[in-house]
Amino acid sequence: MIRGNISEINERIAKVCAKVGRDPGEITIVAVTKGRTAGQIQEAVACGISDIGENKVQEALLKYRQLMPPDARYPAMRWHMVGHLQTNKVKDALRLFDLIESVDSLHLAQEIDRQASGINKVQDILIEVKTSAESTKFGLRPEATANVIKELLGLKNINICGLMTIAPVADNPEKTRPYFKMLRQLKDEICESGIRKEQSRILSMGMSDDFEVAIEEGANMVRLGRAIFED
Ligand SMILES: *Cc1c(COP(=O)(O)O)cnc(C)c1O
Repeated sequence: MIRGNISEINERIAKVCAKVGRDPGEITIVAVTKGRTAGQIQEAVACGISDIGENKVQEALLKYRQLMPPDARYPAMRWHMVGHLQTNKVKDALRLFDLIESVDSLHLAQEIDRQASGINKVQDILIEVKTSAESTKFGLRPEATANVIKELLGLKNINICGLMTIAPVADNPEKTRPYFKMLRQLKDEICESGIRKEQSRILSMGMSDDFEVAIEEGANMVRLGRAIFED
């Protein structure tokens, strides 16, 4: 099932990219594996997935230990944190995540920088933006994002790689389009305000129900759970 789902997703991505003139090679699929087993992750990796997303540090640590022993069987695997990160979990998060997508406050970013400096790590992060009023509890307000990023630019142990958003749940994927458009516009604005290009390189948006709309609006990272692991 996982294999069939992934090949269907790849076809759908190819199709929507053809429609809007984009290269499917620039889209990264993050398999969101909260609630799934290490065995299911292995299966997805066997089908070409290399990016794994988790939303809880403890759960991620358990699977990380199962899958990433010192003789590292999956050297190409990249681990993404996609859930709200409490500051008291930052230390553990730094040990395992390649990309923390859910940096939703100045305070959290500063704490990540402080702890990363202690272990000589430069942590890749995305800034989570709350593009809708009701849907998620977390994320920076769009109006505040550029200024927060400016404040973070001086920090040496975080590396801002782009923006992430979670669109509200909708019965029709078209309804999510305005939120994706907003994140894309924010990225363009931030670019104009003098931030280096690579600092807004990633636009992580789109989930199982709406990833095609997100890609049409410029996503280059989509986070898929149900589309990969369920019928
Ligand atoms: C669970 C989750 C996803 C994947 O959701 P699906 O609808 O199962 O594709 C994506 N992003 C975040 C932040 C999540 O928590």
